[in-house]
Amino acid sequence: FAKSQGRNNYKFYNRKMNEKAAARLIMENALRQAIEKGEFELYYQPQYCLVNKTISGCEVLLRWFHDDKFIPPDVFIPLAEETGLIPSIGQWVLEQGCHQGAQWISKGINIPTVAINVSAFQFQHEFYRMVDNALRKTGFPANRLELEVTESALMADAVRTQRLLTAFKKSGIKISLDDFGTGYSSLAYLKKFSLDKLKIDRAFIDGLPDDKDDMAITASILDVAKHLGLETIAEGVETQEQLDFLEAYGCDNVQGYYFSKPIPASEFELLINASNDIR
Ligand code: C2E
Ligand code: MG
Ligand code: MG
Ligand code: MG
Repeated sequence: FAKSQGRNNYKFYNRKMNEKAAARLIMENALRQAIEKGEFELYYQPQYCLVNKTISGCEVLLRWFHDDKFIPPDVFIPLAEETGLIPSIGQWVLEQGCHQGAQWISKGINIPTVAINVSAFQFQHEFYRMVDNALRKTGFPANRLELEVTESALMADAVRTQRLLTAFKKSGIKISLDDFGTGYSSLAYLKKFSLDKLKIDRAFIDGLPDDKDDMAITASILDVAKHLGLETIAEGVETQEQLDFLEAYGCDNVQGYYFSKPIPASEFELLINASNDIR
């Protein structure tokens, strides 16, 4: 009896695994065709400068609408990384994001920076050329482009990373360290590489201003950043209380649902025009 049940169990798990593998393969194939089918769209989330009380820029966030369903980036970006699709998807995001930025400038819309997320897998030798091509192709100025990288991107190869960062700095492109505080040996990277901005991870903003640990961590990050001459931005700001804390502790910029969710380009345009009116 035990033996036959064991075998059934085995069959059951085997079938489950096959179903999972098949679903993954289907999604992978869909992802492969997403660009040519026009299923990707870029959304933009405003970032606010707490010093000037103005929009300091926007973060570009990729959206995939497949079969009338929205598939979140936390699902398809890892898949794109595992299947080698990330360079071409990343290139599309870069060109599209820079193109949008250039269009806004030509319409007289003042957008100080456009921040684009870069996967660790993209941070390779040909990446500088890809970014440079996107800027040339679209006419978007380098000094308005910011690249959001994670610690894992910096980690892989220190020599190559140094070379890339130097090249970006020379051309005026800014580098922001995304999800700061959640990776490995953060402080060593701050010392080793010349970065422009620290983006404090949402995980620490969540508990403000009541959670003592989150308070201590956020205040310390802001302190370290100030001493190192790095600009700061907090992500995931959802409440007035969080905003008050960040302002009191000298955070330079904020971004989050409290101000706006990521929105399509047309909506972002309305938002930025409205905020220009107030000023
Ligand atoms: P991320 O770069 O850390 O982006 C911040 C995420 O937090 C976004 O999720 C954004 O929509 C969300 N968010 C912003 N404000 C709030 C808030 O107040 N509350 C909450 N709960 N969430 C907030 P999203 O768009 O789902 O993106 C998830 C991740 O996917 C991004 O994290 C980024 O790592 C990756 N990603 C998105 N677009 C791209 C892309 O074009 N290229 C690459 N390589 N990665 C991307
Ligand atoms: Mg980001
Ligand atoms: Mg982040
Ligand atoms: Mg993240």
